[in-house]
Amino acid sequence: MSDAEAGLDPGADQLSRGRDDRAAEAQQRRSVLTALQSETVSTIEVLDRQIERVTAARADANTDDEHDPEGATIAFERSQADALRSAAVSRLTQIDTAIARVDAGTSDRCAVCGDPIPPLRLAARPFATTCLRHA
Ligand SMILES: [Zn+2]
Repeated sequence: MSDAEAGLDPGADQLSRGRDDRAAEAQQRRSVLTALQSETVSTIEVLDRQIERVTAARADANTDDEHDPEGATIAFERSQADALRSAAVSRLTQIDTAIARVDAGTSDRCAVCGDPIPPLRLAARPFATTCLRHA
């Protein structure tokens, strides 16, 4: 065994024993997922800064009074940013799970029933972990 072979990641080795096109698709999906992952991480960072700003503005305005027009606007902005942030965080969890599934060689199988996930579904939602029946 050469040094290069010895250094191979066991996950990659397992994929190379599968059907080549499945493995190629999975690796392509992995790069899409990795891009989505860093995009989502930046979205969360932007929202964190926005939440910090809104929180500071709220402190400056020195008002918790929801009847104050400015206080109400700030509270609304804050709740919008919070909602977007939790959506991004749960998306990030889905993406992380999907990447782990690619590495395990199971990313094109439904996590519930083990049936193949339709390729079109994976193309539209690369972070999907279930078939349509179990979506
Ligand atoms: Zn299923």
